[in-house]
Amino acid sequence: MSKVSKNSNGELVVPDILTIPFIEGDGVGSEITDICKKIIDAAVGKVYSDKRKIEWLEIYAGEKGNTVKGSYLPDETLAILKEYLIGVKGPLTTAVGGGMRSLNVALRQELDLYSCVRPVKWYEGVASPLKEPHKVDMTIFRENTEDIYAGIEWNEGTDEAKKFYNFIKNDMGVKSVRFPETSSFGVKPVSVEGSSRLMRSAIDYAINKKLSKVTIVHKGNIMKFTEGGFRKWSYEVAEKEFSNETFTINNYNKIAKDQGIEFADKQLQEAKDKGKIIIDDCIADAFLQNSLLKPENYSVIATLNLNGDYISDQLAAMVGGIGIAPGANINYDTGHAIFEATHGTAPDIAGKNIANPLSMLLSLDMMMEYIGWIEVSNIIKISIEKAFANRCSTNDLARFMEDGQALSTSDFGNYLIKIIKDWGN
Ligand code: NAD
Repeated sequence: MSKVSKNSNGELVVPDILTIPFIEGDGVGSEITDICKKIIDAAVGKVYSDKRKIEWLEIYAGEKGNTVKGSYLPDETLAILKEYLIGVKGPLTTAVGGGMRSLNVALRQELDLYSCVRPVKWYEGVASPLKEPHKVDMTIFRENTEDIYAGIEWNEGTDEAKKFYNFIKNDMGVKSVRFPETSSFGVKPVSVEGSSRLMRSAIDYAINKKLSKVTIVHKGNIMKFTEGGFRKWSYEVAEKEFSNETFTINNYNKIAKDQGIEFADKQLQEAKDKGKIIIDDCIADAFLQNSLLKPENYSVIATLNLNGDYISDQLAAMVGGIGIAPGANINYDTGHAIFEATHGTAPDIAGKNIANPLSMLLSLDMMMEYIGWIEVSNIIKISIEKAFANRCSTNDLARFMEDGQALSTSDFGNYLIKIIKDWGN
């Protein structure tokens, strides 16, 4: 079996015959994963003939993991994902309140997949609540390992919650808990390393894709040391490590203060003329509004875990909803990456063969880009554009298209395969 590895220069080495482990997923998982593998196989075959090929290796998690291996997250699954560096994951069920740990969060933590990358782009023909959806072209870099998602919290009424409250009251002098007896408590760790590596990957991405701007989105006005720290350390990464490639608004403000606005404006214009990436920041609530009103002002977004969660769903809704929003969780240092549909298991439509496979397909498309098989990625995108131009999709999107034709999951997948096979003939 041949797998992706990293060489001593930190570059990915990708064999032509490549084994990719995949977790089918619960609910609609089996429906979308199966057809998406076939679409990718068709695209790889079309572009590379016999020169390159993917061999899919099924690994188990979630309900199927429990049925086949007796565990929702078998050790073997983690071991294979660690060994093969990259993998694919369908949606997995998460129990609400106590009990089972989120499998998605567990996978991200185990593999230290610190960047959750979500490109958000509108496809012509897809209904959008925006007047000018073509102006939306952003990629979210959401920090994936820290923040309130670290899972450090204690329920109200427990000894732990009382102990924690006594500690912050007696040892730390905290007096501002309004109802201490009935409060649950959570801890929000945000570190220099965690913030810096996320920002580094966002800037690297902007450099590789020749994008003009990275915006740090935060609530530093309220949470000064956590969200404010994220803002400060993110600017520091740009200024210390990417001074040739970037110009920060932080720096602009310093220049404006010392040498006047006119001079600072000149410096900013010069940086833009040289093609430098502009690094600015925006308070999270303002960002949610601004990105709706002026989406063209944003390109790459670097943000913490909780903000990133909200932002991802809003931006996805702006371009057609979660059925079409792709995502990947990546550790750019080790190379580990999991490409996954961003929606859940969709229990209301599972088993009906109507789920939209595009969130999963576009995630696999990100994987093709990640491993450098760009031609495959291009043909996948072209096939989707062509299907939409012909008003074909699954029902979730087709019902909002003029004269839209709603196909089943498998028929839509086969339709894309036909477009790929006929391409250039
Ligand atoms: P969901 O994303 O499963 O469904 C929300 C709505 O979107 C539903 O109406 C559903 O039918 C629709 N939808 C989702 N995917 C679709 C697709 N591909 N095509 C068409 N419509 C689609 O969210 P939920 O109902 O809140 O969660 C269900 C389960 O999934 C929960 O157990 C939750 O924890 C889990 N979940 C998993 C992931 C993941 O594995 N990454 C993400 C979110 C939720």
